[in-house]
Amino acid sequence: MSAKTLNSAQSCPMCKKHHRFRPFEAIKLQANTPRRLARLLQRVAPARLKKQPQPGKWSIAEILHHLADCEIVYGFRSRLILAEEKPRLTPFDQDIWAANLKYAQTDARLSLDTFTSLRRQNVAIMRRLAPADWDRRGDHAEYGPITYRQMVYHFVDHDQGHLAQIARLRGQLQEKKSMRA
Ligand SMILES: [Zn+2]
Repeated sequence: MSAKTLNSAQSCPMCKKHHRFRPFEAIKLQANTPRRLARLLQRVAPARLKKQPQPGKWSIAEILHHLADCEIVYGFRSRLILAEEKPRLTPFDQDIWAANLKYAQTDARLSLDTFTSLRRQNVAIMRRLAPADWDRRGDHAEYGPITYRQMVYHFVDHDQGHLAQIARLRGQLQEKKSMRA
């Protein structure tokens, strides 16, 4: 495979990684995230969900609000790409959103509920797509042309990264708890 083919077919315009999925895998992984998050949150007290691991580093509650907000942004971008012709996609600054929308004060359960319903609807949209819909394009103001497929695959890895981050934070909270016991 030539470098050009590799780049255009596989390299992610947003992060330059090679996200290797097929549509059915991406749909399955996307559909599973709410359940995996709910499991990670079991038996973690609300106050602990708000605990930042270090000053300025996101707590579990902040990550959950970020995931819910990303589901709005990606859900909106998906609708633009799938319904319109080469729409312009505007970027957003996740750190400014977290600070100005006061993610630190949010209710983790509400964020999980919001994320869960938005994700269910976004997955339902994916399930009714024709194969050619996965190649529809938008034009991202920062990253240039991006297909629906590239955006979804990037987003699948985005989920996996934050699931691992929450699992690590949960582990740290439990270690501290057992040291005090
Ligand atoms: Zn990516």
